Amino acid sequence: MFAILNTTQRQAASLRIALIGKSMTSVVIAEDVALSPKIGSMIEEVRAFGREIEIIWDDGVVLRTKLQIRGNWRIFRVADWQKKSRDLAKVVVQTGDYIAVCFDAVEVETYHDFDPGRHPLLGRHGPDLSDSRIDLDRCVDLMLDYQDADATIAEVLLDQRVMRGIGNVFRCELLWTCELHPWAKVSSLNRDECRELVSIAAEMLQSQHAPQDRSLAVYGRHGKNCQRCNGQVRVTHHGEANRVLYWCADCQTRHAGTSSSRYVTEHDTPPGVHPAEFIYLSELERARKSG
Ligand SMILES: [Zn+2]
Repeated sequence: MFAILNTTQRQAASLRIALIGKSMTSVVIAEDVALSPKIGSMIEEVRAFGREIEIIWDDGVVLRTKLQIRGNWRIFRVADWQKKSRDLAKVVVQTGDYIAVCFDAVEVETYHDFDPGRHPLLGRHGPDLSDSRIDLDRCVDLMLDYQDADATIAEVLLDQRVMRGIGNVFRCELLWTCELHPWAKVSSLNRDECRELVSIAAEMLQSQHAPQDRSLAVYGRHGKNCQRCNGQVRVTHHGEANRVLYWCADCQTRHAGTSSSRYVTEHDTPPGVHPAEFIYLSELERARKSG
């Protein structure tokens, strides 16, 4: 079965099993890169395109490795990792249990999803929610004036042009806290609702009581019971950047009627299946069909 996938897809599948949903404990990147993933941030996705592999962290930082012929990613148990190999490594990413190492990549770069610096046409950065001097009304105005009225609230919360500071773990938790349907159109929220959302977000980010792993209500709790309504937490992919989204369909119902159908993945990861396994099985299915 595994042989149906190409080398890059197989490496990505192994990386997903080793890394997804884990908090990163250290990272070393041998090249000069624009930004370094933060220690403690959650590894959320691994994507393969042709001979490239991207690792995505929950705060939207993306590490892109162009592998071409010789480049490759390998996984080591912490005890098996030979430090002498470190000189040959282009990237070393460690979680509690595993060390993922990229050798011989021809290009390594990092960037932020929705980074106006990378996409100058997008416009300027919005206010930073973790700054106590933030002008919350400015964020509210930017939400109310959002140029794309069909955009969903889940997408807008990650849009760095509207506000900064919301990573994906926090986005999922914030939507759950406010009982908001993730696909609700941003244009359906009134000023008071936008104000409530950004106030709660700023308060949580500034109080340093941002959700920790053990206290998360929905993120990473796929298939488990919702703490509020006892419904089942689901996971899907959503938005232009196709980020993972955990939510409870039973109690996150505010503005559900305005749901945008855009970008919504038809099939959720079934309960009891690890997201990495779901991607692997989907890739196998596609490879079989195209082969
Ligand atoms: Zn619920």
